[in-house]
Amino acid sequence: MRIKFGIDYYSGEDKLPPKFVCPVCSQVGLVFDPDEKNLQTKLQRCLCCGYRYNSNFQDPEKNWHDAWIECGRVNLSDIPCEERSEYYTKIRYAFFAKYRYVLSDDEIEKREFDDRLFTQYGFVNSSDSSKKISVRCEDGRCWQFDYKTNTIFYLDDTMKFFAVGEESDRGRYYLFASEYLTENSSCEKEYRGFYLGFIPDLFGAYYSLDNECVLTDREDLKYYFNIEPLI
Ligand SMILES: [Zn+2]
Repeated sequence: MRIKFGIDYYSGEDKLPPKFVCPVCSQVGLVFDPDEKNLQTKLQRCLCCGYRYNSNFQDPEKNWHDAWIECGRVNLSDIPCEERSEYYTKIRYAFFAKYRYVLSDDEIEKREFDDRLFTQYGFVNSSDSSKKISVRCEDGRCWQFDYKTNTIFYLDDTMKFFAVGEESDRGRYYLFASEYLTENSSCEKEYRGFYLGFIPDLFGAYYSLDNECVLTDREDLKYYFNIEPLI
């Protein structure tokens, strides 16, 4: 499993000794009484298994328990602080994989994926022959693709690729671009969040494509992405 982004494990409870048993891991990992429904209780994270109480996850406790067991059942407070984020991220990834479709290393390598990768996050599968996706490089090269979402398009080689996402509820467009195309980009419309399962494992970042999106690739070349009506 490739994990690039450590999720910040730190929580203020680290400063206080845990006194209460966590219902998820059955260890003394909670600073505040989990049966008391106040804000402090809801925001706390178990110092042993990392389960966060203020979650809106589906069936969270059972899944988090199973993910924690799968990841070796390590007590987070027993491992050095600097390694906790990585371990916590590993548990979180295993937890999400229980109800989300996430790519395997092999699928990432081959860039083969199921449509659910996008649709589970609210992006529709759409194609429209009256529109095209145009890409222009500042060195003069141009590409045109039939408008289609959730599909990888390649520019030149296997390192420069992208996909377009279309949100079902707000009708907005997004550009998912490979790491090669995103490393040097400092686009204003960048979305720094990530989607477990495909960002940053498959794509480097994603951007608004409601208007022209400009990316700078690893060689400092600029690319201009647009969705345009077919003339
Ligand atoms: Zn726990």
